[in-house]
Amino acid sequence: MELTSLAKLLDLSSKTAIVTGGARGIGLGIAYRFAEAGAKVTIADIDKEKADDSAQQLKAKGWQAVAVACDVSKADEVENMVAETVKTFGSVDILVNNAGIFPNILVMNMREEDFDKVIDVNLKSVFLCSQKVAKQMIAHGKGGKIINITSIDALHPSSAGLTHYDASKHGVWGFTKNAALELAPHKIWVNAIAPGGIATPGVEKVQKNLELPQGVDMQKLLENFMAKIPMGRMGEADDIGKVALFLASDLSSYITGGQIVVDGGVLLS
Ligand code: NDP
Repeated sequence: MELTSLAKLLDLSSKTAIVTGGARGIGLGIAYRFAEAGAKVTIADIDKEKADDSAQQLKAKGWQAVAVACDVSKADEVENMVAETVKTFGSVDILVNNAGIFPNILVMNMREEDFDKVIDVNLKSVFLCSQKVAKQMIAHGKGGKIINITSIDALHPSSAGLTHYDASKHGVWGFTKNAALELAPHKIWVNAIAPGGIATPGVEKVQKNLELPQGVDMQKLLENFMAKIPMGRMGEADDIGKVALFLASDLSSYITGGQIVVDGGVLLS
């Protein structure tokens, strides 16, 4: 039996990918591995300046990347993100719904607008981006891959202050499974990655502004968090980038509607 070579399985040189929130953190980790595997990558981010810098970093390595300004919670900006990508690279074969926010607010202090914002950016965006991209994939008739970045909070709460976030991530996991069912006839495979604690600029920012329940000390909280990681370290963006590459490539040829937990073992504890 002749099997496809590993090099060919990992080769994304005929593919175009959009990574939302790709200017930094986990999104940049994913964009890096895709570009290295030969994909043409659109870095779509609300912060155009940072997205330009990141696209530049990839291009400096001889890889192909472009930056597009996009607030993923706005339908017209998502439409533009897809149109710009098709105009620049010809198609979209891979979408990573990564952009997300995780402001920490205790539920009893949460305003309606705080709740709505997290749901719009983390959950509605997944619907908007997936629908627009899938439409394009169906028109091209070549199938595609959609990868949604959920969280271990899609399965189990990691800390207080994240009710809106946990609701959004449970929602993305539900969306992933149903979209996988609906889009399979079009050869569009939809999967999720559930990261645990990954050291990113976003996490650093949240830790600085954490609203803790009375009597809870920040240092103690961090120590407890670290003690719950069987692998004994926080994750890095590349830990997620490598799994995203697996899901984007033909290495994952028989997976749809799945969620891969990448948490150093946290959910075991
Ligand atoms: P970061 O905040 O480090 O990076 C996210 C990027 O997305 C930033 O560039 C941010 O821009 C951008 N962004 C924010 N809002 C929007 C928007 N409306 N439209 C487009 N881009 C936007 O986050 P992480 O890399 O840590 O997280 C990425 C994803 O991974 C999120 O979905 C998060 O929920 C998930 N995740 C992260 C974990 C972690 O421990 N880091 C754990 C589990 C899940 P700006 O800086 O201007 O806000």
